Amino acid sequence: MRLCADVGGSFIDIAAFGSDAQIRWRRKTPTPVGDWASFVAVLADAVQAVPTTMLSIATAGLVDPVDGIVTSANIPCIDGRPLARHLRDTLMLPVRVVNDADAFVLAEATLGAAQGHDRVFGIILGTGVGGGLVERGRIVSAAGGIGGEWGHGQAVHASPAGPSANPVFACGCGRRGCLDTIGSARGIERLHAFLHGDAADSIAITRAADAGDARARATVDYYCDLVGGPLAMLLHATSATIVPVGGGWPMPAG
Ligand SMILES: [Zn+2]
Repeated sequence: MRLCADVGGSFIDIAAFGSDAQIRWRRKTPTPVGDWASFVAVLADAVQAVPTTMLSIATAGLVDPVDGIVTSANIPCIDGRPLARHLRDTLMLPVRVVNDADAFVLAEATLGAAQGHDRVFGIILGTGVGGGLVERGRIVSAAGGIGGEWGHGQAVHASPAGPSANPVFACGCGRRGCLDTIGSARGIERLHAFLHGDAADSIAITRAADAGDARARATVDYYCDLVGGPLAMLLHATSATIVPVGGGWPMPAG
């Protein structure tokens, strides 16, 4: 069997599957974010429990395609490590590590909604904005592992010529106006507060919009307008023919 682990800032979700891609075994454990020995122990327990010849890991954070160094703000114990090499030396089996958004796009291109498409740009609209490009079944990597990350870089500009200026929010990366500040779940909440002065969570906003609430619908339309422009440019630049969308947030209709 093949063993796969989805390593996030909150949980490590591990599954084993056979050649038919059906999950045969699964275990979800809180991520010991600051303790390398405990982090390794979670994976070692899974390797003990399931006869396997390989461990594949999808992780939050960047994975440098050249030296395998992981950059992860949320999981300090793996930040700065050549994670695959360190785990291979400890667990004594081959280990592959990729960025979780890249893994999502590869899965959709291989087994999911994007089967049959040569070039797939998948996007994640969740806690943040992420993405990945897969061409003919292979992840397109870039220096530093930053390929497909379209959330940072100024996408929103103040527009004093309009009836009201677009909001330019500060981003966690240090810049202002990044797509991440308005395209994520927190982003639509910011836009809703900007338009209407209301505090509401992303799920409530999208549900209200789908139920016909005019103010929530205006927020969703504004969101789609601001996110749609950068996405259109990206699709033209990559020539992707399909865009699988992921993220733990129900997308607004339309
Ligand atoms: Zn940013």
